[in-house]
Amino acid sequence: MTLTRVPVVGQQCHCRDNQDHFLARTFERLGLDDAQRQFLVHPFREVTMQIPLHVTAEEGEALCTFTAYRVQHNHARGPFKGGLRYHPEVNLEEMRALAQLMTWKTALANIPFGGAKGGIAVDPSELTLSELETLTKRFTQKLGILIGVHEDVPAPDVNTNPQVMAWIFEEYSKTHGYTPGIVTGKPLELGGAAGRLEATGYGAAFITMLVCESRSMALEGARVVIQGFGNVGSYTALRLAELGAKVIAVSDVYGGVTCDAGIDVQEAVTHVSDAGRLEGLAGTDALTNDELLALPCDILIPAALDGVINCDNEGSVRADIVVEAANMPVTHMADDALHDRGVLVVPDILANAGGVIVSYFEWAQNIQEFPWPRALALTRLEDCLRNAYERVAGGAARAGTSMRTAAYDQAVAAVLRAIELRGF
Ligand code: NAD
Repeated sequence: MTLTRVPVVGQQCHCRDNQDHFLARTFERLGLDDAQRQFLVHPFREVTMQIPLHVTAEEGEALCTFTAYRVQHNHARGPFKGGLRYHPEVNLEEMRALAQLMTWKTALANIPFGGAKGGIAVDPSELTLSELETLTKRFTQKLGILIGVHEDVPAPDVNTNPQVMAWIFEEYSKTHGYTPGIVTGKPLELGGAAGRLEATGYGAAFITMLVCESRSMALEGARVVIQGFGNVGSYTALRLAELGAKVIAVSDVYGGVTCDAGIDVQEAVTHVSDAGRLEGLAGTDALTNDELLALPCDILIPAALDGVINCDNEGSVRADIVVEAANMPVTHMADDALHDRGVLVVPDILANAGGVIVSYFEWAQNIQEFPWPRALALTRLEDCLRNAYERVAGGAARAGTSMRTAAYDQAVAAVLRAIELRGF
């Protein structure tokens, strides 16, 4: 039996709208001409692939065809860099927008990478581990001519993890020799960097701390709500709890849990690893993801998917600060509305840059074949984030704009400068 699963290609998504909107404003402010705009918007290369795979279904074995993508947006400042996402709704428009976002993120962090994104339209929970391994290795064979240590370096994203990176490393090394630097976010045993697993959440928590310092607001005791309890959400929660914040609600795809006195985050992590979900966490009450986003709190951290705060629910957000730990969780219309009513939105390209910064450290360590201790990676991560934060907060204060506006202006100007210097 042949079963073809083809996702919607070319559909407009929140991500694309957001990018177009934020960029249009930046292009105006920087006074860019049409040629410069076209060069900055359009991807260098985008590839759509079909990956056949025999999967075990209820009726027996079935041949499925999965659609996969890699969009390489810009490499003026260094090799293309960006995650691989496994999700049924992955589509080309989303990949384009997320690839572009990586270009601005790496430029803002001032690390020598460009931007890319890729993924497979698949629900990995429907596959066995061995099917997922075969799918990943076939994807790597097709990606093989596009990626390289100095060309394009993938990393984990939603529903991919160090194990998936290990399979890519193995498959790529079969034809290119031992090449740990081909992916970042690998297991420690295979050249992964100490600190990479927690880097995005650690970075989001560190940026939250800097925001509180700038506002002379105590992080200790601050009431924090986090949507998403995967890699980013759980490590953000753990680090903020370590810093003294009170995490009063967290959620995953199945729903949320809340406790006004503060959730024991470590216990929540243990519960999820045993039960596979937050539901049923002792000492908490259940709530929906919609209710969670509307909880009164000091700091709201969306750390799951894009577009979750939009014009339908923006009015119900009752936080003073929104930290975008996920990519593009706030749509541009909601972003404007939140800004107008005085809610500070810390943009994704700053708030979640910790992951790609430590990915850069991992890549550098792999090239040198010389690992760093975790403490050194985290100190350098903090230096890098503090530097980016001060540039963005300072730029926003001087120009009287939002942090997002300042961040985009600086990132786009940096990429444009690299293009002009290289002359391509
Ligand atoms: P993950 O797969 O580890 O976790 C995702 C979490 O979101 C899970 O808890 C899941 O249950 C939850 N979730 C999924 N759909 C949801 C929904 N509809 N409502 C509520 N919760 C839902 O993914 P991750 O790596 O933590 O990534 C989360 C976000 O952060 C994504 O936007 C990703 O692009 C971004 N990001 C990740 C990294 C990284 O290093 N992993 C770096 C930068 C940005």
